[in-house]
Amino acid sequence: EWINFTIFINKIIDRFEMTKTQHISFKRNIPKDELYVEIDTDKITQVLDNIISNALKYSPEGGKVTFTIDVLAAEIQIRVKDEGVGIPQDSLNKIFDRFYRVDKARTRQLGGTGLGLAIAKEMVYAHGGDIWAQSKEGQGTTVYFTLPYDPNQEDEWE
Ligand code: ATP
Ligand code: MG
Repeated sequence: EWINFTIFINKIIDRFEMTKTQHISFKRNIPKDELYVEIDTDKITQVLDNIISNALKYSPEGGKVTFTIDVLAAEIQIRVKDEGVGIPQDSLNKIFDRFYRVDKARTRQLGGTGLGLAIAKEMVYAHGGDIWAQSKEGQGTTVYFTLPYDPNQEDEWE
């Protein structure tokens, strides 16, 4: 399905902004332009739902979550940055493995199965994109993913 990605992601962020129970502020660096991409909206909704719920789940009160979209040569890059607990360097690529959770004791009380990012990875890969994370323990985490995008595509809509 062809959709304007900026409208799509803004609606998802709105939903989290209306239902969140913590004092966490949201900041959006999302272009105003139309960004048409062909995606399975249910699947990419699941990807964003997990990344955003992680950002909230692993953040203390008073933190900020920043959403950024950059348009690159042949893809759009979506980033979700939080100011939460962070992830140790040696766990950074394992968080995309099934059932992997960084700190069993810490995360048990927060709930979850450790499947969210494994499913997100599968879905992003099925779209021809990539997904990865950067983090500093005690400072926060940024999760990145990309989706193929044709910048010349827009002209054909005129
Ligand atoms: P589920 O998503 O299945 O409910 P989960 O959130 O534990 O459970 P994933 O979303 O796959 O599982 O994340 C795997 C692990 O990576 C988490 O348990 C957590 O330890 C770590 N993690 C993921 N996102 C963040 C984040 N934004 N900040 C800190 N740690 C994170
Ligand atoms: Mg999760």
